[in-house]
Amino acid sequence: MAIKEILKMGNPLLRQEADLVPLEEIKTDNLKYLVEDMRDTLEYSGGIGLAAPQIGVLKQLVIIKIPEDSERYPESEESEEFILFNPVISYIDKTLQGFWEGCLSIPGLRGFVERPRKIRVDYKNEDSLECSIEVEDFQATVFQHELDHLFGFLYVDRMKDIQTLVFEEEMQNIYEQKEL
Ligand code: ZN
Repeated sequence: MAIKEILKMGNPLLRQEADLVPLEEIKTDNLKYLVEDMRDTLEYSGGIGLAAPQIGVLKQLVIIKIPEDSERYPESEESEEFILFNPVISYIDKTLQGFWEGCLSIPGLRGFVERPRKIRVDYKNEDSLECSIEVEDFQATVFQHELDHLFGFLYVDRMKDIQTLVFEEEMQNIYEQKEL
């Protein structure tokens, strides 16, 4: 299909709430093409998740796939591909855990964000079937980051300390400082 332009922070569409996708719409050709475009765009960009508002479509749709050889997140474990329509989060373990998050809409930067460590997500899949998944650790952060995009939030909104907003090429220096 097509690789779409990813909107960057500052674009007002990233700050709007996305619409629920009506069940009867999920299996239409239009939505199939949208999923294919998002899949192509995600693969091309080297990211691990993409929400429809990031390509300017205000629908509650997210794709998450952590590839085995992710260059952006080399420490992460591979995941299957998830296509989530109308996802809803429930918190299973609210203990906070922190990761250095990046975002395709905020290229070149990373920020340290703490989020609950285990969640359940109820959603509709590509066949508009009701699904539920429990995720924890890094995957729980990925799901929460992506779902935030559906409600107009970016990871920088979740940061407690703006001093941990850094350029990717400076990350190495941070790790070296930690070892001191
Ligand atoms: Zn993002």
